[in-house]
Amino acid sequence: MNSISSKEIYDLKAPFAPGTYVELFLENNDDIQRKWGFFECDSQAKMQLLFVSDDYLQSFDSFSTLVDIDEDGELECNDDYNATLIEQENTNKIGFSLPLYRTKETKFEKYYIVVFAYEGEMPTLQDPYVIIDMSFRVGIGEDDNVANGVNLANYPKNIQEWNQISHIQSVWDAVKFFECLSKKIGDTFTIMRENFFSFCKNNPQIAGKIAYIYYRFDLGSQSFIDSVENDFKDYQRDRDFYFQTCKDVLLNCPIEKNNPKTLKEKYDELMQGKKLDIAIYKNLISKIVTAICEKLDLNLITKNGEIDFFQGDEEEWGEYYKRRIRVNENNLHDLKEIIKTMIHEIRHFYVETYYYPGQGILRGYLFYAHGFSISDDYKILFDGFYKFDDKERQENAYEIQPNERDARFVEKMIDFLG
Ligand SMILES: [Zn+2]
Repeated sequence: MNSISSKEIYDLKAPFAPGTYVELFLENNDDIQRKWGFFECDSQAKMQLLFVSDDYLQSFDSFSTLVDIDEDGELECNDDYNATLIEQENTNKIGFSLPLYRTKETKFEKYYIVVFAYEGEMPTLQDPYVIIDMSFRVGIGEDDNVANGVNLANYPKNIQEWNQISHIQSVWDAVKFFECLSKKIGDTFTIMRENFFSFCKNNPQIAGKIAYIYYRFDLGSQSFIDSVENDFKDYQRDRDFYFQTCKDVLLNCPIEKNNPKTLKEKYDELMQGKKLDIAIYKNLISKIVTAICEKLDLNLITKNGEIDFFQGDEEEWGEYYKRRIRVNENNLHDLKEIIKTMIHEIRHFYVETYYYPGQGILRGYLFYAHGFSISDDYKILFDGFYKFDDKERQENAYEIQPNERDARFVEKMIDFLG
């Protein structure tokens, strides 16, 4: 009988995080077209029941298809789990994201995903299957109300050992896990960033755990931040300091040395004018960025006091990279949004300059999250992670990660500009 395998980069004996991208294949390659699907079991006992008889198996209600074949013989891959065929038309090799949401999140002891490859209407006990232990947990509580928990008693010595851990309860544990990862990936932001993606591709199970930590320990959630009591509000104080400094600069810094007009007054003036004089707008933005960086002692790279401008698409605003700030000059007409973006991008610069692991717990967390940052190109590996904001818009893994949540938070304080 055929059996289902994964690449050796997955440790099927170790717990998986929800949302993890998994690739599976049938060991004996033939050209029979197969369907794929999985059962979810929220206990060991339930999982064992699956294997009692075909009747039992087929009466389970927690079944989802991954790859289906419709009446016309057309293949259908289930987008809900990002299911794909790794080779076109070959149903022996599939990739998909594990479900992100678990029933009984706070109550289960073990949680399993049992994946079948089958030819009939429904799987039978004759069909090949694989059992994936999806019991990895982070923090305490339901997904929309996560709190910091207690620290581990002993810390694993290497990544393989960390991979066996079934519950990272506290942010401190997550920081320890990241510290261990950084020994493998790199200990400076630049090296971490450069090596992170190839590490994730070669360690998708660990990559899933990192993204799941970001998903659960969400810096966009005030109740979560408050639950990290042993941070003693260190992170929040520093975040407030950052924003207050930006605000002070805008309100009090003169536009030029011998000109009493402040940056904010110049902004108000431009907002009332009708004509967009690009040079004047560029000048104001450069002044704002350089003044904030100067005040925060950030060693910004400029060209004669000018930051970098580029001509980009409408949805591009600006970016921070290696001590440079770049702005899309095509969006300068929306001055407030551009200033908001600047406060966001300079925040990345600030975190990169001043945060390190020996500080408070949440600052240490942000230090690593900035280094291990998920870019939009990482796609498939992190497609299984998402949330919905208060307007029901879907946020992807890039938006959820702590580094972006943090910068988003400070940029939102821009409303004082009016
Ligand atoms: Zn950002």
